[in-house]
Amino acid sequence: ARRALLARATGPGATSDGHAVPLLANIGGPKDVAGALEHGAEGVGLYRTELLFLGRAQAPSVEEQEAAYRRVLEAFPGRQVIVRTLDAGADKPLAFLPPPGEEPNPALGERGARLLRLHPEVLAAQLTALARAAAGSSARLAVMAPMVSTAEEAAWFAAACRKAGLPSAGIMIEVPSAALRAADLAAEADFFSVGTNDLAQYAFAADRQVGALTALHDPWQPALLDLVAAAVAGAAGRGRPCGVCGEAAADPVLACVLVGLGATSLSMGASALPAVRAALARHSLEQCVLAARAARSAASPAEARTAARAHLPGVA
Ligand code: PEP
Ligand code: MG
Repeated sequence: ARRALLARATGPGATSDGHAVPLLANIGGPKDVAGALEHGAEGVGLYRTELLFLGRAQAPSVEEQEAAYRRVLEAFPGRQVIVRTLDAGADKPLAFLPPPGEEPNPALGERGARLLRLHPEVLAAQLTALARAAAGSSARLAVMAPMVSTAEEAAWFAAACRKAGLPSAGIMIEVPSAALRAADLAAEADFFSVGTNDLAQYAFAADRQVGALTALHDPWQPALLDLVAAAVAGAAGRGRPCGVCGEAAADPVLACVLVGLGATSLSMGASALPAVRAALARHSLEQCVLAARAARSAASPAEARTAARAHLPGVA
């Protein structure tokens, strides 16, 4: 019995009827690897690479980046590791990579993929470091771009990854335009990962740094669930995986709803993994689908949560 409990606590993510949902960790660098493994992460769903670049006058060298990426890849032999390219600007400003002009609204300015496009040498160095780190590793490296808003940007990023010899190029869905035209973007990218933090910010026109607006950032907002559903549908139409790596995935009840919407993997801060794993293990895929449907039919976040919970009796 103890072994069964332990397997449920650390084994691969799945619903009670065996529908597999890889449970991955969000990490900020090699320092987070031990915690991810301790909590049974099946891989990395979001490696935020900004930390490596923070507080520098210059970008770290290709060699320095390669060493950091290799340490993470080595910890996950045979597993998926999704690395996000530099997401600078807005809430993650970098001294050596300022936006090109005055930005009264930095969240709506040159950030993420837009900023990398202005500095192709920074992106090229990062992709080269990643390709080199992956060369001697059995981990399955995938690379994704933040803040992509059009199919044209997705195509640009995929081309840059191919040029660097990287096997898999995905994009984050963080902007409503990307969710609404997900089928077009899925034609260019190998996979999606929904960043619900920014997706909420942009869907509700509510700056994520303004604490007074937290009610609009509630990941149970039915409009946010609609956008996640649109992203998943666009990806599924092309046979592409679509995971979720925003804070929403860390709520055990909402995690079940995201699976019911069709999310193919969930990535979160490692400490949230056991509770999410347990919640999934207690419900069938059909219960998750019914919960998702009920949540999307609700008119408010509170109603959505109550409606979903009625189909998910096994979560505290
Ligand atoms: C997100 O926006 O949901 C996300 C996962 O990225 P970050 O929080 O790093 O912006
Ligand atoms: Mg984001």
